[in-house]
Amino acid sequence: MTTTDTSFLNFPLRLSLFIEAVNNSTLNVKTCKAITGGGLGKGNTKMPGRTYGISAWRCITGSKLAEIAGSVCSICYARKGNYRFRNVKDAFLVRADSLVHPLWAEAMAVQIRRYSSDEEFRWQDTGDLQSLEHLLMIIMIAEATPSTDHWLPTREITIIRQLEKLVVAGQVTIPSNLCIRVSSHFNGQKPWRRLPEWCNTSTVDWEDAPDTCEAPRTDKNARVHTVEDFKAYTPQEKKDLDFGHCGDCRKCWDKDVNNTNYDSH
Ligand code: SF4
Repeated sequence: MTTTDTSFLNFPLRLSLFIEAVNNSTLNVKTCKAITGGGLGKGNTKMPGRTYGISAWRCITGSKLAEIAGSVCSICYARKGNYRFRNVKDAFLVRADSLVHPLWAEAMAVQIRRYSSDEEFRWQDTGDLQSLEHLLMIIMIAEATPSTDHWLPTREITIIRQLEKLVVAGQVTIPSNLCIRVSSHFNGQKPWRRLPEWCNTSTVDWEDAPDTCEAPRTDKNARVHTVEDFKAYTPQEKKDLDFGHCGDCRKCWDKDVNNTNYDSH
């Protein structure tokens, strides 16, 4: 049994039909990868879990911010380096286009159950939400993969507000294993305010942040080095220690951590 277009149904009914479809899915991994434009990303060795991203050139808010100096998006890694090569750029565009496939959500859930059970999963390591429907599909996938912790960073406040209306109306409940973090747009900017209570936030270089991501000082053995020690290391020592790992930290996925602050330096 596979899902058909159920987007016209009320969400609770749609969700229950979706979970039933995932439980009984006959999609194999090869087909799932084809449907979703290549399947899950392996992430990188420094962060836990697998990923799924789409083209950063399709970001609705991010594409405007990318033109503004000082915005976080103006130095977006997903618009630089290898991401500018035609074949890479096209591959991420194919993934963005795959969102409209009627079996996209089912194919994602099948892959996450297979490869990311009891692990973290990171949405939008490149790109951002495209629509309320995109966000609703991620919510359905999180519900269908309860042993996976999902982290969704986004700048799409408009879509968050659209979802808020459905939550207030009792149509949608945010899954306990999905942490939605709304990201501030500029370096130094404080966290967004007046967000729904189910939203978390993230900032870059916010000087009043109670703490900041320690990945830049966490080595390949998950040891967090002090600021003083880190500053004293030579470039070769830093290279040997291979900094930039999450280690044992999972704050980005932790709904009890209201805000995560990152250092741009
Ligand atoms: S806050 Fe923790 S989980 Fe998030 S990127 Fe930094 S080290 Fe990794």
